[in-house]
Amino acid sequence: MDQLYDVIIIGGASAGLTAAIYSSRRALKTLVLTKDIGGQLSTTPDVENYPGFSLIEGWTLSNNFKVQAEKFGAEIKFAEVTAVRPENGRFVVEAHEARYLAKTVILAFGKTPRNLEVPGEKEFQGKGVSYCATCDMPFFKGKTVAVIGGGNSALDAAIYGAQTAAKVYLIHRRDQFRGEQVLIDRVKNQPNIELVYNAITKEVKGDTAVRSIVVADSVSGQDKEIPLDGVFVEIGYIIKAEFIKDLVKMTERSEIITDDHQMTSVPGIFAAGDVTTSVYKQAVVSAGEGCIAALAAYEYILKQSGQTAIMTDWGITPKAKTAAEPPATTTSSLPKAETTPVGATTLEV
Ligand code: NAP
Repeated sequence: MDQLYDVIIIGGASAGLTAAIYSSRRALKTLVLTKDIGGQLSTTPDVENYPGFSLIEGWTLSNNFKVQAEKFGAEIKFAEVTAVRPENGRFVVEAHEARYLAKTVILAFGKTPRNLEVPGEKEFQGKGVSYCATCDMPFFKGKTVAVIGGGNSALDAAIYGAQTAAKVYLIHRRDQFRGEQVLIDRVKNQPNIELVYNAITKEVKGDTAVRSIVVADSVSGQDKEIPLDGVFVEIGYIIKAEFIKDLVKMTERSEIITDDHQMTSVPGIFAAGDVTTSVYKQAVVSAGEGCIAALAAYEYILKQSGQTAIMTDWGITPKAKTAAEPPATTTSSLPKAETTPVGATTLEV
């Protein structure tokens, strides 16, 4: 018979592992099914914006999440989930050659790197084209590489690359970066980084390995061929949600729609982290959503078994909160906090 878990979490990065910490601390039988630990975060060399750590390697932070989740009893298995479906009041979660049963599911599988979709990209994957600077930049010691993109990932990769490679071309399709100013300043102060603005990558060329890329200047319309040894594609991420496309409601970008308890359109299935419609796809936001999803899953399980649900930290159900909010036309000069009742209220079951 399939083993029954209280919670199966799909994804082992900041959202999934934070959910695992919270659910296992509530003594829920918790299984994390994941392809890797840390996802995108694990490939970020220097994380400087996760509260509590002024500087920590992404991999170390990810591993800390894992160690903490396991300490409280969460089970972690490396597997790719291929299907989730409701069956007899439970959820069947299928991975290659294995099947699991759960009372609740938390979808926290994050995003995967976007491809450039240009000739030569696929052909030279693993032969000079990479999507992970942390993993592959050390192979380009003393060589010339291009980093493509204009967000924090590209800026990070270029800064990291400048410490290893002899020369880094940072190729961006516009003339303004979208990443953080502190990283932009660092890139601009690095003598071996050459900024190539308004450059549309058209082709990756090579023989047994990458030898050059062709970029088109979007202002002049001129093509330019840049000789190099490696190409790091850092142009953002997409959500690969094919396996649940008929299960939960999603946006056209495959972001999973949730309520403010991280519950999806299917009761008992929650979502957290970069897979949701959260506007800021940051590790700290993912961790927060993972926490909410786990506590909401706990509350859901209690309700299903006819028990009184947990108290919220601030004691207000979404319904009570709406009722407690002052009307839009209020003339009260009291700060809003004082018009809100304080103290724990048991949720309605
Ligand atoms: P991103 O912020 O979405 O930026 C993607 C970049 O790639 C944009 O500059 C975009 O250009 C460009 N791009 C997209 N499609 C392209 C194409 N087909 N050809 C050429 N260029 C293309 O993605 P990200 O940099 O991977 O970051 C993802 C999230 O992780 C962000 O929230 C970021 O802040 C976070 N992150 C944070 C850190 C950190 O804090 N150190 C590190 C890494 C990532 P346009 O600007 O023209 O759209």
